[in-house]
Amino acid sequence: NLKPVQVKLVLLGEAAVGKSSLVLRFVNNEFQENKEPTIGAAFLTQKCRLEDKVIKFEIWDTAGQERFHSLAPMYYRNAQAAVVVYDVTKSASLDKAKSWVKELQRQANPNIVIALAGNKIDLVQPTEEGEEESAESGRQVPTDEAKAYAMEAGLLFFETSAKKGDGVRDVFTEIAKKIPLE
Ligand code: GDP
Ligand code: MG
Repeated sequence: NLKPVQVKLVLLGEAAVGKSSLVLRFVNNEFQENKEPTIGAAFLTQKCRLEDKVIKFEIWDTAGQERFHSLAPMYYRNAQAAVVVYDVTKSASLDKAKSWVKELQRQANPNIVIALAGNKIDLVQPTEEGEEESAESGRQVPTDEAKAYAMEAGLLFFETSAKKGDGVRDVFTEIAKKIPLE
C-alpha cells in the first residue's frame, strides 16, 4: 500500500574519498578494493523502507575530479538530498567537502537535506577511552571537529566505512526520515 516516494540524491566530494564505494555498499552490500574512478557520473537506485513510508533513492554518484566540477550543478539542481563525503585520513578532503556544502547552500534547492560523511574509519587505529587521538592513529580529521562544523552548518553527520559497512545504512536511513511526506 505504500507507494515509494522518489528522492533524488547526489553524492559530492573530493576524488577517491569513497563516494562510489558508499553507494556500492548501500545498493549491493559489496566493496571493491581497487574501485575504478567514476567518469562524469553514475546512476543507481535503491529503496529504503521506513515505518511510515518507502523512499526510492535515485542516486547520482558524481566524479570528484576538478575537471568535472562544472557538471555538478546538473546533478544537484533538483536534488532533495546530498551526501558530501570526505576521508577522515585526509584533512584537505574536509576542506573540499566544506566548499561543496557552501555551493549547495547557495545554489541547490533551499530545502535540500545534506549529510556529511567522514569515510574510511576502518583505517584509523582505535584509541583508548580518554586518550588523545594521535597522528599515528592515521586520523587527520577529529570526530569532534567535523561534528561541530556539521552542527553549525545544519548538516546530518556520520562517520562511515564503505569497506566494513559501518554507518553506511544510517546515512541513507536518517536522510529518508528527514524527507517530508507529500
Ligand atoms: P570516489 O572517487 O569518491 O568514488 O572513491 P571510490 O569509491 O572510487 O574509492 C577510492 C578508493 O578508496 C578505492 O580504492 C576504494 O577501494 C577505497 N575506499 C573507499 N571506501 C573505503 C573505506 O571505507 N575504507 C578503505 N580502507 N578504503 C576505501
Ligand atoms: Mg567515484
